[in-house]
Amino acid sequence: MLMKNKTIVITGAGSGIGAHIAKMFSNEGAKVALLDIDEDGLNNTETAISKTNGIVLKKKIDITDKKEVFTVGDTVMKKFGSIDVWVNCAGISIIIPFLDCSEEIWDKTLAVNLKGMFLGCQCAVTYMMQTGGGSIINFSSQSGKKAGARYQAYCASKAGVIGLTQSVAVEFAPANIRVNAICPGVVKTPMWDKQINDYAKKRNLKPEEVMPYFCKTIPMGRVCEYDEVGNLVMFLASNKSSYITGQAINLTGGSLMS
Ligand code: NAD
Repeated sequence: MLMKNKTIVITGAGSGIGAHIAKMFSNEGAKVALLDIDEDGLNNTETAISKTNGIVLKKKIDITDKKEVFTVGDTVMKKFGSIDVWVNCAGISIIIPFLDCSEEIWDKTLAVNLKGMFLGCQCAVTYMMQTGGGSIINFSSQSGKKAGARYQAYCASKAGVIGLTQSVAVEFAPANIRVNAICPGVVKTPMWDKQINDYAKKRNLKPEEVMPYFCKTIPMGRVCEYDEVGNLVMFLASNKSSYITGQAINLTGGSLMS
């Protein structure tokens, strides 16, 4: 029970990685606050956690809305008394040729992937300062470090997440708040189900050839498992990483090494 009596807030908890992290932390004894814009997804995650008697608070919010983010932060504090870990996991990804990328796609991607994490960090820091510290984990991506074609808005947003993470980490290290980013390679989540056709077009592949293509190009020969992301989040959330802050950690099976 690595997380017993800890409170963790997770954005993007209605799908994919965020939903999985929520279940893992609940299994380790944490009280989990699930945030997402997708109510059905939130309900599914809540049901899964309730089956194991986990303690849950669930709220449909848009992470780009400051008032909604801070209101839910206040609710979590009133219900659980602290925010020990805040995971900014919600994100969107659109693969589109650069010249077709509209202002709307650019603005939405930057709003969700970067402004949403900025607001999440601000809210987390505000409440962590009141209780003596905490750990913030932001989801960047390997695309935050290494450019890919047809991916300008996403790459820019995820590179921005690293800058945000490191700047907040420096400012609040004296306050015992650690802030780190995770840069995963490919994790087969609903995000990939939505974008696999666009990725296939970019590489001139059939959709069913995309995952085998990745496996060939990744040194470890396979994509990342949900538990492998969750284990890294758990490590960064726990005291086992007590001297680590301001890092952007690759989780790529060897695809990225710096
Ligand atoms: P996913 O699509 O399965 O889940 C993302 C969740 O974010 C969804 O539940 C969605 O409803 C939520 N969301 C989107 N906009 C929101 C908003 N405005 N307010 C609140 N919630 C919102 O995606 P995933 O694959 O689980 O990705 C999780 C994170 O990991 C993302 O930040 C993604 O960029 C990052 N990432 C994923 C991969 C991958 O291969 N899956 C690789 C690198 C990084």
